[in-house]
Amino acid sequence: MNKEQASKKTILLVEDDIFIGDIFETKISISGFNVVKADNGKQAIEKLEEGLKPNLMLLDLRMPEMDGFTVLEKLNEKEEWKEIPVVVLTNFSGEDDIDRCMKMGAKDYLVKSFFTPAEVMEKVEKYIS
Ligand SMILES: [Mg+2]
Repeated sequence: MNKEQASKKTILLVEDDIFIGDIFETKISISGFNVVKADNGKQAIEKLEEGLKPNLMLLDLRMPEMDGFTVLEKLNEKEEWKEIPVVVLTNFSGEDDIDRCMKMGAKDYLVKSFFTPAEVMEKVEKYIS
């Protein structure tokens, strides 16, 4: 990591859909952040266990191996992980899902089809630590 990258804030993007993942990866990096991508919840938790300290996590819910709800549960198990701001980005839009995520500490819940990547970044910049 060079000096410029080290001074940037890091977003952990957890998304199993390659197409959506690519769109957001590009959008996040042109918005001036480092982006680390995980293809599912299990990979995301592994990256945290390896010592990654993201300034924010953008989290999909429906993923293989480990879903986003389980990731939120796991984040609540560790003091240092609890501090990570999480913005849920998903296709689910049921009120139960929204409630469940917000109760587990998510900062916001965005339905993919309702927001452009630019609008998602506006939200992200509001919550990034
Ligand atoms: Mg998904």
